Amino acid sequence: MLTIPYLDTPIEYLKGVGPLRADVIKKELNIFTFGQMLSLFPFRHVDKSKFYKINEINPDLPYVQIKGKLSNMQIIGQKRAMRMVADFVDETGRIELVWFNSVKWIKDTIKPNIEYVVFGKPTLFNNKYNIVHPEIDIFYEQTLSTETAFQPVYNSTEKLKTKGLDSKGISKLIKTILSNCKGNVPEILTDELVNNLKLLSREQAFYQIHYPSDMNLLGKAQFRFKFEELFFIQIRLLKYKLIRAEKSTGQVFSKVGESFNSFYNNCLPFELTNAQKKVIKEIRKDTGSGKQMNRLLQGDVGSGKTIVALMNMLIALDNGFQTCLMSPTEILANQHFVTLKKLLNNLDISIELLTGSTRIAKRRLIHQQLMDGELKILVGTHALIEDKVQFKNLGLVVIDEQHRFGVAQRAKLWKKNTIPPHILVMTATPIPRTLAMTIYGDLDFSVIDELPPGRKAIKTIHKYDSARLQVFAFMKQEIKQGRQIYVVYPLINESEKLDLKFLMDGYESIVREFPLPEYAISIVHGQMKSKDKEYEMQRFVKGETQIMVSTTVIEVGVDVPNASVMIIENADRFGLSQLHQLRGRVGRGAEQSYCILMTDFKLTSDAKTRIDTMVRTSDGFEIAEVDLKLRGPGDILGTQQSGIVDLRIANLARDEQIIQLARNTANDILKDDPAIKKEKNKKLLLQIKKIEKYGELWGRIS
Ligand code: ADP
Ligand code: MG
Repeated sequence: MLTIPYLDTPIEYLKGVGPLRADVIKKELNIFTFGQMLSLFPFRHVDKSKFYKINEINPDLPYVQIKGKLSNMQIIGQKRAMRMVADFVDETGRIELVWFNSVKWIKDTIKPNIEYVVFGKPTLFNNKYNIVHPEIDIFYEQTLSTETAFQPVYNSTEKLKTKGLDSKGISKLIKTILSNCKGNVPEILTDELVNNLKLLSREQAFYQIHYPSDMNLLGKAQFRFKFEELFFIQIRLLKYKLIRAEKSTGQVFSKVGESFNSFYNNCLPFELTNAQKKVIKEIRKDTGSGKQMNRLLQGDVGSGKTIVALMNMLIALDNGFQTCLMSPTEILANQHFVTLKKLLNNLDISIELLTGSTRIAKRRLIHQQLMDGELKILVGTHALIEDKVQFKNLGLVVIDEQHRFGVAQRAKLWKKNTIPPHILVMTATPIPRTLAMTIYGDLDFSVIDELPPGRKAIKTIHKYDSARLQVFAFMKQEIKQGRQIYVVYPLINESEKLDLKFLMDGYESIVREFPLPEYAISIVHGQMKSKDKEYEMQRFVKGETQIMVSTTVIEVGVDVPNASVMIIENADRFGLSQLHQLRGRVGRGAEQSYCILMTDFKLTSDAKTRIDTMVRTSDGFEIAEVDLKLRGPGDILGTQQSGIVDLRIANLARDEQIIQLARNTANDILKDDPAIKKEKNKKLLLQIKKIEKYGELWGRIS
């Protein structure tokens, strides 16, 4: 007979869980087994051995436990405003308790003149402290015993609570499972790992994470589960990468030839920075290796990624391959095309632009020349990956600003040649390392961590709307010195019409302040035809207009070295990475540049952090870290990829060291045992198979 391992026992077999509760546990928590229930970790513990006196309560205390008696219990208000209030009194003072839910039930349950223990978060309301929805229990002496000093607190939901599964209800179930755990929790890491990393055994860790003997052991238990979670993510990513590397032969760029050399010797407009040289070498090594390259190149705005891409594209040409550069917007594709064409001016290399607005006749010609192999470099937008676009021999694809391209689109590119082309993904939105290691864990990374010399740091200033006249005066002064200025408005997304009105109002006030013929102003927004956008952009690029009023369409990549001021209206409405991107539009020339963040007086604390961060630093990675802490990984990546970062216990913003450790450990194991076949790694393979069998719920499976 097959016996079910204890931890795999279906949750309905747990004492205290009937069919109704089982149902709601499955639906609300996605928990089906004992093991999964044990992996519902408390989000904090409270030290219930400590009692506060009511007169000790102050706003810095997150949660307090107090002991006393109830008086003045009454129901007040009607219908939705109905609530139960009571005074809670000890020998030092009184505090109000308030319940908005289950009012009648509370009224029937709690009694005056009995000693209660109340636990909750005090808040200041009308100058008095109260506790809303406190936990309340009759006081028993054993509450004081050290065994139960650290009580786990679990997240619950409304639906769970209606089935009696509030934090306490959940903790009861978990206690029941734990009471039979002894000898029933198999290790899923190797003995070697447990010993070398001095990890708690899995069984111990389960006890300690729910009912810690002390804070030190709680920390160890948390460490063990964080490591475990991150380790299995990393080993799977790296295994996948290995398999792909083994299977997929890549194009071999064996030599550096005529195109590269004559460009390097005759056309390179500046000395490369060391960081650029380093990255070119890294890519060169990959593309010569015979394996397909999938590399993520991160470099702050203005760090000079374009030239790095171009030089590797030239190596592709030197080896008889075609290459393409793909951008997320037409404006940017255009700009790349112009830049590359100019750089390649003195070389005999065919290059074309393909976007949604390319005329049919031209398009046909491009298709033809790509098939013939006559056309060597193609720059464009999404239009590049249409199935109609066939290459004779595509060797390298460069994708700029990758966060706008989906993973599926990247995969589509692999199919553009019988042997897949090398892929270089470039992004100017630095992704915090921890996130990159997890999301792009199957890619290799290169980082340009140095800006070209001679750049003056951009001065970033925060101004309230009330200082607008001062800002106008400053703008005039800059324009007088021949500079150009961006004024950017947010897309609020409430409605396009409203957004547009916002922009147009701003535009009108600027036109009033900066009248013709002395000043000329461009305007670009999302609802204009791309032909008109392009026309307006070009006027600004050529210096025919001094002010560019726009929405965020100019966010990505636009390069106008003469523009020295970036004014961001309603700056509090922008995310950090967007603000950073926008600021990167200036500071490209030799002049001192400025970024002015305009806001209202009232700012949320998050908005204040964003603005302060911008004023304090221009380091893209530092900004990305703050962004990650403010928004969490799910928001940064968008819903598409957030599944992967939906972790059970590890935190991508905070557990950088553990992520690194997990990755290194996984790397070492795979180096020694690439197929994870060795006897000593049997447990790992078993767990990986288990995770893979259960699909996407990486974090949930124990
Ligand atoms: P990004 O990494 O944001 O794409 P670009 O490639 O557009 O940056 O480069 C920004 C600007 O810096 C461009 O005007 C480019 O010509 C210039 N640049 C790039 N590399 C160097 C360098 N090594 N020295 C001086 N200027 C450089
Ligand atoms: Mg760029």
